[in-house]
Amino acid sequence: MSLSGKTAIITGSNSGIGLGVARELAKAGANVVLNSFTDRDEDHALAAEISQETGTSARYIKADMSKGDECRALIEQAGACDILVNNAGIQHVAPVDQFPVEKWDAIIAINMNSAFHTMAAALPMMREAGWGRIVNIASAHGLTASPFKSAYIAAKHGVVGMTKSVALETAQEPITCNAICPGYVLTPLVEAQIPNTMKEYNMSREDVIKNVMLERQPSKEFATVEQMGGTTVFLCSDAAAQITGTTISVDGGWTAL
Ligand code: NAD
Repeated sequence: MSLSGKTAIITGSNSGIGLGVARELAKAGANVVLNSFTDRDEDHALAAEISQETGTSARYIKADMSKGDECRALIEQAGACDILVNNAGIQHVAPVDQFPVEKWDAIIAINMNSAFHTMAAALPMMREAGWGRIVNIASAHGLTASPFKSAYIAAKHGVVGMTKSVALETAQEPITCNAICPGYVLTPLVEAQIPNTMKEYNMSREDVIKNVMLERQPSKEFATVEQMGGTTVFLCSDAAAQITGTTISVDGGWTAL
């Protein structure tokens, strides 16, 4: 599968799933644009490392996905957008009656509204190029719920709905729009929660992973960032040209329960 000559923009990609997806897209030949809201040397160094490893062009563009105008500016600044991966996301856990309003607003803005703005800016470029792939990183929580995550669940369900709507709008064009719904993925964010949970439950690392974190993931294994990248590359392939408006769960069986 060669994505040579394609430009892929991955929001929220200086760590975790976004970075994993960017690496796999670059390995498949795409020129990738990394993004987050910071502008540190290490952000740009990640792009340089990907370029060196894959021989493709990789750039880092700072843009805050909580702000609609910056979402649109990211796409404009990249200059081309054949593949758009909406991945930026944050989480906050609290009962709905105690949910801080600013956290609610930030989660809805970053996890959902950003996809509206980036898709709106990217679609004219895809139409001009005559080809496009949109991959929205939703979640098992885009299809099911858990308590105390009302904002995240609302945003991820919203992303799944938006994915279907955009797929119908582009159904007769060479553009597809799908969502990947990961279960638990071992990213730095998740790894960082393990020591505290070990203390809280007085459990070993193995028990925290199996009995707390992966309680709802029947495989009892984390999904990996490479698997998210591989699934994204598949959705960009010719084999996936008629796959649009759907969700692909990469969740070890979570949503089969
Ligand atoms: P992560 O914290 O490693 O990555 C999140 C990325 O989003 C980072 O690059 C961060 O810099 C970026 N980001 C945060 N706020 C931003 C903003 N305002 N503007 C631009 N970028 C911003 O976490 P992750 O686990 O890799 O999560 C990536 C996506 O995958 C999220 O949408 C998350 O909801 C989803 N997801 C993760 C899991 C999991 O188990 N890790 C499961 C299902 C879905």
